[in-house]
Parts: sequence; structure tokens; C-alpha cells
Amino acid sequence: MLEQNTYKVGIYMRLSREDEGKTTESESIKNQRNFILEYTKKEQLLVIDEYIDDGISGTTFDRKEFNRMIQDIESKKINMVITKDFSRLGRDYIEAGHYAEKYFPEKRARYVSINDGIDTYLDTLGNEMLPFKAVINDFYCKDISKKIKSTLNTKKRQGLFLGSQAPYGYLKDPVNKYHLIIDPVASEVVRAIYKMFLDNNSLQKIAHYLTEQKIARPSVHKGMNYKDNEKTKAIWDERTIDDILKNPNYTGNLTQCRRKKINYKSKKIIHTNPNEWVVVENTHEAIIDLETFNLVQNVYDKNRNISTHIQDILLKGFLYCKECGHTLGINKSSDKTRHYTICNHYRKYAKQSFCTCHSMRYEDLEKLVLGDIRKKCKECIDVSHFESIIKNNNKKTKVLQDINKRIENANNIIQSHRQNIEQMYLDKLNKKVTDEIYQNVFQKLQKEINESETLIESLELEQKSLLNNKLYDNDNYKEKIKTFLSFKKPDRKLLASIINKIEIDENKNIDIYYKIKPLFNSIHNRGD
Ligand SMILES: [Zn+2]
Repeated sequence: MLEQNTYKVGIYMRLSREDEGKTTESESIKNQRNFILEYTKKEQLLVIDEYIDDGISGTTFDRKEFNRMIQDIESKKINMVITKDFSRLGRDYIEAGHYAEKYFPEKRARYVSINDGIDTYLDTLGNEMLPFKAVINDFYCKDISKKIKSTLNTKKRQGLFLGSQAPYGYLKDPVNKYHLIIDPVASEVVRAIYKMFLDNNSLQKIAHYLTEQKIARPSVHKGMNYKDNEKTKAIWDERTIDDILKNPNYTGNLTQCRRKKINYKSKKIIHTNPNEWVVVENTHEAIIDLETFNLVQNVYDKNRNISTHIQDILLKGFLYCKECGHTLGINKSSDKTRHYTICNHYRKYAKQSFCTCHSMRYEDLEKLVLGDIRKKCKECIDVSHFESIIKNNNKKTKVLQDINKRIENANNIIQSHRQNIEQMYLDKLNKKVTDEIYQNVFQKLQKEINESETLIESLELEQKSLLNNKLYDNDNYKEKIKTFLSFKKPDRKLLASIINKIEIDENKNIDIYYKIKPLFNSIHNRGD
């Protein structure tokens, strides 16, 4: 799921001739704006720009601002649009519907109409509130498409392969078209690709090699290549290799719904999140064992995160702007000899002055930060300090043990009382005790059970908060600190095991957030 703060919101407001003389006040631009801003504030959304088409005052014509908004979606300046009412979006339902159901989803822009409860992010098909559902034909198409989809999904969950083409490396079983069997030729190519990748070959290199070896590309191999000319037909590209390296079907687990059409109106296909995949294990023979497949996925992630440029700059990725919370980037000076920090939010929206530049010479910053961490680390392995930490640690362990014991006792009480109630009930049935006695004892025992349950609940809460406040493994963190002190300059991995992030404020104060408990009290330092 995307986080709220990844949305860059454009708010759209509109007044038209029809609004004239109506409840103008409630529809006024000012009102629309207040209403929307209240929502964005509540949802903690970042408003990038507002677009106002005021048809009454006549200052704008033909939805000039609306068009500017569309341009900003195209250029990815914004990726979310909010209006007060659905009718504000377009001049009629057809137009508004076009944007809400087709255009925005295709551009991966989220659309929210506050009053109508429309939110395309929650479920593009499920926004039954969309007023144009009244357009019968439209609704009919939608309904049918939904029904077909749900039948297909049931089949997918049963482990039936429903694709029109088997994934490269497999063939459809001639006996059972819902089952995959190994393609003896293509499966060897798949294995070779995984091996080459793990031997540190780039995607480009692998593609190059396969092209050179004149191995038929997947689409050619399957005989689908009617569009290509002779020349491009033989060429493997990186995207194909990428697809193959990420396809979980090779592990023998049928994985469907990895892509989907945005909705019934649009032909565009997008990749889904793994939580939307329908996976059924061991439906067919594996080409790649699970271990190898997972290894490849890991290597993939690492490669993506480390580009050569980033490796040079130790603190990149750790630096944040104290004022706005965005990351700080690194700029090179014009003669390329020095580096400076810059708030990325400021850089992106310099004109709107959302933040200030937060410029600090990187080389100085690094020296200061490393110096401070070093100082902290040294203090920490100082013996007396260290002993107090261990003492504290032992104390916590004792408290936890005590809580466990009390929970156990309370559970025992509950169990034995329940047994007693049961026995009493049988005695009552057998007329060994009177109703009155039974009722009295029952109420007493039940009360104690309830009390014990409440006690357990509160003890468990206490336990949880203590555990969240993790006890650190003494030896392990001591080791890390020692390693850090032994390096003149640590590598990024070691640094990441010691600190979470570094915040820098407008006045160049530095705040270091430590991962290791004994280092916690972060330092405030002024760098110039
Ligand atoms: Zn900032």
C-alpha cells in the first residue's frame, strides 16, 4: 500500500453559470477550498497546487485551470486530485466519469470526491457511489465484467492455469489445458539466465549473450511474433530478462493475477502488488528451485539500492530535513570539488518556498557526524557506563519474569474456577446442591474469573511495552561499537547498524538518531 505522504495533491475547484443565484455561498470557491483543506489536513495529505475555474466572474474560460491540472498530472507534478463534489470535476457525468474511471486510473492518479465518498484508490471497480452508474449500459458492462472476473478468480484459486499462453519455459499440457508442463528447450534458457545473473552478469549482458547465441526470444519461440521484422525479431531486451528473473511461476507455484487491466473500460495493463497475487503451491514442475529464486530476488533488491554514485557518499540516504521531513540530497559545487546538502522538497518546489535550502558543506558534515558517533561510542564502552546498562538490562529481565509468573497464576485461577463451576453445575443437576448455593458460588467464581482476565490483559500490555523497548543483546552491540571505532571511516552497512537517520535543521544543527539503546540520547551540535 502506498503511504499517504507519497501523494502530491492538486485540489480542483470550480464555479459555473449554473451556480449563479443558487446557494452560492455554500458553493463559493472559498467554501470549496476550506472544505477540501479540512480533509487534506485530516488525512495528512500534501497539497502541491490548487486549480480554480471561476465561470461566474468570467476570469477563466473553457476550464483553463482544469487543463493546467491535467498537464501537471502528465508531468507527474501531482498524482492525486480532490474535489468537494463529483459534479465539480466535470461539466456532466460523462465527462466527470471519463476522468474518474478511465483517465485518472490510467495515469495512476488517485481521485477523491469528498461529498460523494468516491476514492478511486480504495477500489477502482468498487466505487459504486459513482453517480454515473445510473447510465444503464455502463453499469451493465461493469456488472458483467465483475461477474466474469470473480468466476475466473475462483478458478485461479483452485490452481488452474488460465493464461492464454504458458509462461516462457513451460507449455500447456495437451491433456489438460489448465496445467503446465516443462518446455524442454525454453526451460534450459531460463536456467541459463538465472545462472548468468547469479554469476554477476548484468541484464544487458545476458540479453546480449542470448541474442549472440541466436536463441529465439520468448515471443518468437511461442510463434507470436507477427509484428516484428526480421532484424528486431532476434534481439533480446533487458525487460524480457527482468520479467523472467522475477517470475515466481518458475518455482512450481502457480502465481496468477500478477498483472491486471485497470478496469473494464480501459485496455491498459498494470502490475499488481504481490498481495493481490493468487498463488497456489506445487501445481507444476519447477524450473528454478525456491532457494535460487529467492537468492535472485535478494540480489535484485540490493543492486537497485546501491548505485555507484551513492556509494561514494557515505551519508546519503541517512540525511533528512528537520523542518519538512523530506530527504536531503547532495549537490556538487560548480567546480565539482565539493558537495553540499540540499532539502529535496525545497529543490523540487523552490518557487513555492515550501522549505529552505538547508545547504551545508557535505565534507564538513560527514566529519562532524562521524566525530560525534565516535565520541558517543567511546563513552559507551567506558566501563562504568557499560555496567549500569547491563544492570538496567538485568532489572528488566527480572520484571518480565515476574509478569510471566503473574500471568500464569491468573490463568491457573481461571482454569480451576471453570472446573469448579462445571462440577457445581453437575452437582446441582444431581440435586447435591441447591439452586441458591449454586448461584452464590457461581457468581463468586465468575467474578474472580473476570478479575483475573482483566489482570492478564493489563499484564500483557505491560509485557508488550517492555518487549517493544527491546532488550539489546549486550555482546552484539558492543561488538558493533568496537568495529565502528576500529574503522577510520565505516562502510554504509556498518553505519546503518548503528544509526537510523540524521536530521539537519535550518540553523545547521545536527540530530543523530541511534539504533543502539545506550547511544540513544542524541547529540545536538552546531556545525558551521
Ligand atoms: Zn525541508
